[in-house]
Amino acid sequence: MEKAQVVVIGGGPGGYVAAIRAAQLGASVVLVEKDKVGGTCLNRGCIPTKTLLASTHVLDVINRAAEFGVEVKDVQPKFSRMMERKEQVVAQLRQGIRQLLKANKVKFVKGEATLVSPRIIRVEGDKGSEEIEADKVIISTGSTPVRPPLFDFSHAAVLTSDEVLKLGEPPKSLLIVGSGVIGLEFACVFNSLGTQVTMVEMMDQILPTESKMIASHMQRILDRRGVVFHIQTKVEGIKDYSSNGVTATLNSGEEIVAEKMLVSIGRRPNTKGYGFENLGIAMGPAGNIIVDAKMRTSVEGIYAIGDAVGGIMLAHVASAEGIVAAENATGHESVLDYSVVPSCVYTSPEIASVGLTADKAQTLGKEVKIGKFPFAASGKALTAGEDAGFAQLVIDRATDRVLGAQIIGPHATELIAEVALAVRWGLTAEQIGTTIHAHPTLAESIMEAAENAQGRAIHTAW
Ligand code: FAD
Repeated sequence: MEKAQVVVIGGGPGGYVAAIRAAQLGASVVLVEKDKVGGTCLNRGCIPTKTLLASTHVLDVINRAAEFGVEVKDVQPKFSRMMERKEQVVAQLRQGIRQLLKANKVKFVKGEATLVSPRIIRVEGDKGSEEIEADKVIISTGSTPVRPPLFDFSHAAVLTSDEVLKLGEPPKSLLIVGSGVIGLEFACVFNSLGTQVTMVEMMDQILPTESKMIASHMQRILDRRGVVFHIQTKVEGIKDYSSNGVTATLNSGEEIVAEKMLVSIGRRPNTKGYGFENLGIAMGPAGNIIVDAKMRTSVEGIYAIGDAVGGIMLAHVASAEGIVAAENATGHESVLDYSVVPSCVYTSPEIASVGLTADKAQTLGKEVKIGKFPFAASGKALTAGEDAGFAQLVIDRATDRVLGAQIIGPHATELIAEVALAVRWGLTAEQIGTTIHAHPTLAESIMEAAENAQGRAIHTAW
């Protein structure tokens, strides 16, 4: 029987990072993956969606070319080429991960892993069944889209994010159930491609995990682009499935006819059927594996990370948890600090937040001041013709420390890194405001927001 000090189950951004970290620390490591390395993030999530968004961004810019003094005739989006490009980007990154695993001497085993005992992993692969004995096991089996029984997912019109990424043509109309990050990113892709997009959200705002102010700003922008929203509304069922699509009934009494329907109402941890429950690994109500700050499960020697443990289901969180689990599994002491996790939405414009909102800070008993800067006052944003939105810093009035930020605007997902660093290391608004930022850059907006909080902003009068 093959033996390894660490066996990692699942090769997504949690699992492959854990495997590489454990190997860096000198362990013999086997990574078992039943499908393709990179997991959801690389094959069905972060990267494919961002590649499509990059294509539709090019289309959006070309459609505005005249504004920039460039005449373009006959703009023809080619969806099939966009999808091909997506596959090429994914394949290149997948190849990169395979090389990294090899370079770090991580043995890759293709097959579905089941825990037979806390130390024995059975792998069913193309070539049959094998068993591996491990000193430590790291579970990183990820998640899959929630498919509520209300909808018939065997019908060609009813899709999750997995199937949307395989479409041959953009639909003429798309009903999106759920307006979280995934729903909104697809809304932007298909709105740019000319699809009539309708979004139904049962909560009282789109992007329920973001601040109300940011969410309503985003909704107004998409509303102007023709996306139709039904907020605080539920899809009660599908009245009709036909070869042309679906007719959905809403609790408001309205009906929506759409060629395709994307159900993006959340994801469920992949934790059933792999022997975890037989070993008594404690699970939460959502099927998430319960872990402590060292990513240890209730069973000695077994760790779990990423979407499988629920919590913040993001690739960078899975990777950070992977590093913590690998360090603990190889005899080091490591815990994860979740207080600074940037959250990004790659819509147009982008949204990013980190740390505390003003409301949250106040509920924690902190008196805050706000520093704000509108992109309409940013030279760089105006040169790019992307002046919608603002950057806002939440600052502790007593200490001047930056507690958090909410940004909606161009490259918000890049800008948030500076604030994440500030929040993580307790930097003050003064420290950010007195650091020279290059001009013209979008990053100046963070400096300006910090100066604004101190009443010494040059480029804003509010
Ligand atoms: P996964 O990536 O799901 O990987 C789990 C792996 O385990 C899979 O490859 C699976 O095949 C394998 N596996 C499962 N069971 C077994 C078994 N028994 N044996 C062997 N292998 C097994 N996050 C971001 O941070 N930024 C984004 O922009 C972003 N965009 C997203 C867009 C979409 C459309 C979706 C769906 C998700 C997006 N996410 C994004 C979320 C991100 O993809 C996940 O949080 C991340 O992939 C979780 O990583 P993981 O390693 O825990 O699990």
